[in-house]
Amino acid sequence: SKAQLFEKGKGTNVTFKDVAGLEGAKEEVQEIVDFLKNPKKYTELGAKIPKGALLVGPPGTGKTLLAKAVAGEAQVPFFSLSGSDFVEMFVGVGASRVRDLFKQAKEKAPAIIFIDEIDAIGRARGKNANMGSNDERENTLNQLLTEMDGFGTNSGVIILAATNRADILDRALMRAGRFDRQIYVDMPDLNERKEIFQVHLKPIKLQDKVDIDFLAKQTPGFSGADIANLCNEAALIAARKKKSAVELQDFLDAVDRIIGGLEKKNRIIS
Ligand code: ATP
Repeated sequence: SKAQLFEKGKGTNVTFKDVAGLEGAKEEVQEIVDFLKNPKKYTELGAKIPKGALLVGPPGTGKTLLAKAVAGEAQVPFFSLSGSDFVEMFVGVGASRVRDLFKQAKEKAPAIIFIDEIDAIGRARGKNANMGSNDERENTLNQLLTEMDGFGTNSGVIILAATNRADILDRALMRAGRFDRQIYVDMPDLNERKEIFQVHLKPIKLQDKVDIDFLAKQTPGFSGADIANLCNEAALIAARKKKSAVELQDFLDAVDRIIGGLEKKNRIIS
């Protein structure tokens, strides 16, 4: 809801085990986990710990999940907000939310701040200047930049942000000492889809004949979120038919339903 604009520093119980595939991205964020757990190892040698990293990739590929896993692995609190919550905001509210978020995270440091859909506040400034809400977005962005510059490199707070449009972000966000690292989170390939199925089929009661290799082959172009959705849809279909286990046909029916939905979405976009 709008009243609860960010998640306040709750721990997460997500770990790297919950994130299937994404080996390269996991390796990169492993370093961030280490910064949070063993800051002295770095600061004693005079190293400055990075303040932020940008997770870049298509929707539903696990960026939020990965950010939560960083907090879970490091066992630090997770503060999050979504850029899209700031789109229709009263004057001054966006900036004060950002200030509040950083203040709370600093108090609870070491901690992770996660900003989802950062492009909604971090689009390059000075474009669409005639749009009403634009000033407020700029105020929010400026506050974010101020906060990132304001805290010391070794404050124990690391900011992760996610976007699928790194190309439209204000360059100022990517400057040294801000989001100066980019981590790519790509769509899963065949093997990664298998791994994602393994994670999401775990809670599901399967009929023996359900073959993960086959399911992975039937789902090119599916993101992790699509696969999670597929597994659940299949279970819902089987339950509706009062089956005692989920069968291959339920997955195939769910694939049809989801592909139908994706096509409809694409038709609306194009
Ligand atoms: P968006 O850009 O739309 O915010 P995102 O990249 O942040 O998407 P998530 O919100 O992390 O995607 O993914 C949604 C859900 O999809 C996850 O909670 C998880 O259930 C599933 N999922 C996505 N990627 C993976 C993955 N690599 N491994 C396991 N599950 C995944």
